[in-house]
Amino acid sequence: MRPAAERFAGHRQALAAKVLAAGIKHHKTLEAIATVPRHAFLDAGMHPQAYEDTALPIGHSQTISKPSVVARMIELLHKPRHRLGKVLEIGTGCGYQAAVLSLLAEEVYSIERIRPLHDLARTKLRPFRINNLRLIYGDGILGLPQAAPFDGIILAAAGLGIPDALLDQLAIGGRLIAPVVKNEQEQQLVMVERMSSQRYQRTVLDGVFFVPLQSGIV
Ligand code: SAH
Repeated sequence: MRPAAERFAGHRQALAAKVLAAGIKHHKTLEAIATVPRHAFLDAGMHPQAYEDTALPIGHSQTISKPSVVARMIELLHKPRHRLGKVLEIGTGCGYQAAVLSLLAEEVYSIERIRPLHDLARTKLRPFRINNLRLIYGDGILGLPQAAPFDGIILAAAGLGIPDALLDQLAIGGRLIAPVVKNEQEQQLVMVERMSSQRYQRTVLDGVFFVPLQSGIV
């Protein structure tokens, strides 16, 4: 990723400090948050808020995720003493988390079901010339069998459960991180580790708030 305009360097560092204060300890994830210029993924009207630790609208009733939650999910994706290999993201949105992931993983695939957002992410990401990131227009509930297995899978939208196709496409030893709907008011971050071809270990973590995981493409 090419360095962003220097006038935003302080803002990026300040955002990484807010993410650290929110409890994220993983050094490389914090470095990636301090590197990606979040304002570049938002409309100009949103630039004053770009370096706040909040979700913000990106159109089509969707949001750019809260940076500390992006960082938390990416931190969880890392197994101790392992580099991230191939990662799949469901829900590209405007492409911010995909850009952060591209700094940490060898290969990133990101799927979006809303065509104008897929196109927006393409436009927003183009100036960064990221060569280890592929954007796909499709239904992430089906995963991406042609590129599986994945060492990590991250969902940026909350479903009622974790789609079977995604569990199938997780490499043995790999991790999947997803917000899952608990009831009408609550969602929980869930981590699933694939222990063997048939065995998965599920850990329920923090309460979160994400847009819904929806099926089909629009
Ligand atoms: N990763 C984004 C978050 C975008 S919000 C960021 O960096 O901030 C979540 C996105 O998930 C929305 O754009 C929504 O359209 C998308 N989404 C929801 N269900 C999906 C599905 N089944 N397949 C692909 N994308 C989906």
